[in-house]
Amino acid sequence: MSVSRTELVAYLTQSLRPDQYQDYCPNGLQVEGRASVARLATGVTACQALLDKAIAWEADAILVHHGYFWRNEQPEITGMKRRRLRALLQHDVNLLAYHLPLDVHPHFGNNACLGRLMGIDQYGPLQPADPANPGCIGTLPAALSAGEFRISVEKITGKPALHIGDSDAPVRRIAWCTGAAQSYIQAAVDAGADLYLTGEASEQTVHIAREEGIHFVAAGHHDTERFGVQALGEHLAQYFKMEHCFFNIDNPV
Ligand SMILES: [Zn+2]
Repeated sequence: MSVSRTELVAYLTQSLRPDQYQDYCPNGLQVEGRASVARLATGVTACQALLDKAIAWEADAILVHHGYFWRNEQPEITGMKRRRLRALLQHDVNLLAYHLPLDVHPHFGNNACLGRLMGIDQYGPLQPADPANPGCIGTLPAALSAGEFRISVEKITGKPALHIGDSDAPVRRIAWCTGAAQSYIQAAVDAGADLYLTGEASEQTVHIAREEGIHFVAAGHHDTERFGVQALGEHLAQYFKMEHCFFNIDNPV
C-alpha cells in the first residue's frame, strides 16, 4: 500500500501541529521527492549514513527528528550539505523533519516516550509558564537509589550514562528533557526535582548539580531522542499500511 506525499504531510501537520512552535528549523516537508510513499525510513538525524541506508532500502520518504536548514546556518549549498541534498534529489526521496513538535507531542514525543520507558506515567511540564520548554517532571512509582536509576536508564539507551551525585541517595521526583537540554537544570532545581536527566552535559552543568544538590544524568543526545521518531514511524506504517524501517546510526554523543 502507499499514500500520497500530500496526504502524509497533511496527516503529520494535523497530528504534530508544527504551526504551534517557534522552532530553529522548518518542520514538515523539507525536501520534496516522489509523489507517492510506500516505504518510510526513520532515523534521528538526516546524516549521510542514514540517507545511504534509506536509499539502499529504496525508501520513498525519510522522516527524522534533526533535519536541515537550521537557523543561522550558512545558506550556501556546498560540501556536506550539497552531498546530502544531491543524494535525496538524485533518488527522488522526500525528507520530512519534525524537531520541537516531536519532542513535545503527548504520545509520539521524545519526552513522552522516554517517560513511559522510565516507568513514569503521570507527569507534567517542567515549566508550565513556558510552553516552549519541552521538559517534563514526574514521580517514579517507587523511590530508587540514584545508582539504580542510572542503571535503569542505561538499560533503555544501551549505553553508559554520566551521573553526578551520590549513587546511594534515594531519588523519586524526576525531571527530564531529551537532547541537548542541560541548560534546563536550573528549572529542574526550581521545580523541586531530585534528579534531572537530559542527553548532553556542559562543564558548568556539573557545578550546578553539585552546588544546587540535584542529581544530574546525561544519557546521550542521540540515545534519548531515538524513541519519538520510531514510535511515529510505526504508527504511520500501521495507519497508512506502509513499510517502515528505523535506521539507528549510532552516535556516542
Ligand atoms: Zn535533538
